[in-house]
Amino acid sequence: MANKTKADWLALAKKIKIDGRAFINGRSTDALSGETRPNFSPGDGRELGPVAYCGTEDAEGAIKIARETFESGVWSEMAPSDRKMIMVRWAELIEKHQDELAILECLDVGKPIDNTLNIDVSAAIRTIRWSGEAIDKVYDEIPPTPANSLALVQRLPLGVVAAIVPWNFPLSTTAWKLAPALATGNSVILKPATNTPLTAIRIAQLGNEAGLPDGVLHVLPGSGASLGKYLSTHMDIDGLTFTGSTPVGQLLMQYSGQSNLKRTFLELGGKSPNIVFADANLESAAAMAAVAVFYNGGQTCTAGTRLIVEEKVRDKFIDMVIANAKGWMPNDPLDPATTMGPMIDKAQFNTVAEYVDIGKKEGAELVFGGKRCLEKSGGYYHEPTIFAGVNNQMRIAQEEIFGPVLSVLTFKDAAEAVAIANDSIYGLAGAVWSRNINTAHKVAKAVRVGTMGINNYFGGDMTVPFGGFKQSGNGRDKSMHAFNDYTELKTTWIEFE
Ligand code: NAD
Repeated sequence: MANKTKADWLALAKKIKIDGRAFINGRSTDALSGETRPNFSPGDGRELGPVAYCGTEDAEGAIKIARETFESGVWSEMAPSDRKMIMVRWAELIEKHQDELAILECLDVGKPIDNTLNIDVSAAIRTIRWSGEAIDKVYDEIPPTPANSLALVQRLPLGVVAAIVPWNFPLSTTAWKLAPALATGNSVILKPATNTPLTAIRIAQLGNEAGLPDGVLHVLPGSGASLGKYLSTHMDIDGLTFTGSTPVGQLLMQYSGQSNLKRTFLELGGKSPNIVFADANLESAAAMAAVAVFYNGGQTCTAGTRLIVEEKVRDKFIDMVIANAKGWMPNDPLDPATTMGPMIDKAQFNTVAEYVDIGKKEGAELVFGGKRCLEKSGGYYHEPTIFAGVNNQMRIAQEEIFGPVLSVLTFKDAAEAVAIANDSIYGLAGAVWSRNINTAHKVAKAVRVGTMGINNYFGGDMTVPFGGFKQSGNGRDKSMHAFNDYTELKTTWIEFE
């Protein structure tokens, strides 16, 4: 509900039930070994409770059940219009539990409550509802074959899909995977990130309540290196869908090649360019330059971490971005006024601090932030941080920091802006700001990324595909295009006598 105060959220948070059990075959369950791991809240470092630590024996059982359920047809051969009704009911249940899920995500990830409620939970609702509603409107093809023949080209589910997701957007990336995978009739085993499993577990329980048959969806918390690898190398997993870092994505491609060539779709890292021309609406551009990098503490794959500004407005524009950065000082995630929370954990904070040191050593000019703050809270909070005088060869311009650190570069003309933007191993997102329609379109077209904004950043919704070029990945989440990642094309050729 809207307009809750910090006191309201704190009171609700105290009452919340934390369930860290796995969800296998329609039931909440401990790991077979009984092993758990403590789960800490990034906001204040306190322990939220134990989380099941599933191993390969849990995975083996879940894969077997998922396979049997797929083969039984109880879900895979259910009429799309019936699958639709269950998914829509599921979205409604998530909506009914939106405050609970917003708090779970806030406590588990340290994201501001306003974000978890209005962005993460609402994205999950929209994604599941949209994919469910779409699935009985998808037609197969009859190609233009010779008159004495008829061909049917159908999309069939892959079978058993493993989904592995990261800690920075646990709920929305879970929904981006589950919704199209389930809508198209697959069985799914989801492995959340080790430290952020709570909302994935909860929405699986709600899916079951909505009518997902037992055995269709399993959530197994556990380690990436063992459980994640086991799923990715398993011979009876047909599809692998992943959101996470580029190095792990590279491993998953190898695992697929070394096992059964399971269809493998990856959504990976980024170092996204945000290009600002002197003729842009500089006020909007400066406000959004701050949103682009500081939203979610910069722990965002599409973060606009390279601000590439036309040289003649550099100083003025940097001052404007600094003024906006002041609105992004971190605070308690359960306060609805908070714009930025903590880093997910000490290790991530240390990575950010290391890159701040690297930036200084490389000769970039630290013009804002750069330090830890709110130390007494028990969380690892980092100030919004801006480096000017960056060139694109510096590590702070090339490497994904995954923290609130902005690198400001300059350009003289459009060709140079595009060259800098494209000089990256990544190609996930970006934006260009200009009032000249020709400049804006030409630059947007030339930058090699999956999503490009013109006079906005983070634009898009469920109706458009999301994914990367280059080492930012190969799959596409969202929209009807996501269905391609979870289906095989099957041709049936009929000859008439
Ligand atoms: P990560 O790659 O470390 O982990 C992601 C998931 O992979 C986790 O569940 C982890 O347990 C698992 N994993 C780790 N090693 C594995 C292995 N050997 N085999 C199988 N699974 C393994 O990423 P992270 O630190 O959780 O998330 C941050 C990264 O995710 C950043 O690089 C960010 O850019 C990226 N990301 C991309 C998108 C996108 O849509 N492109 C969205 C969000 C985050």
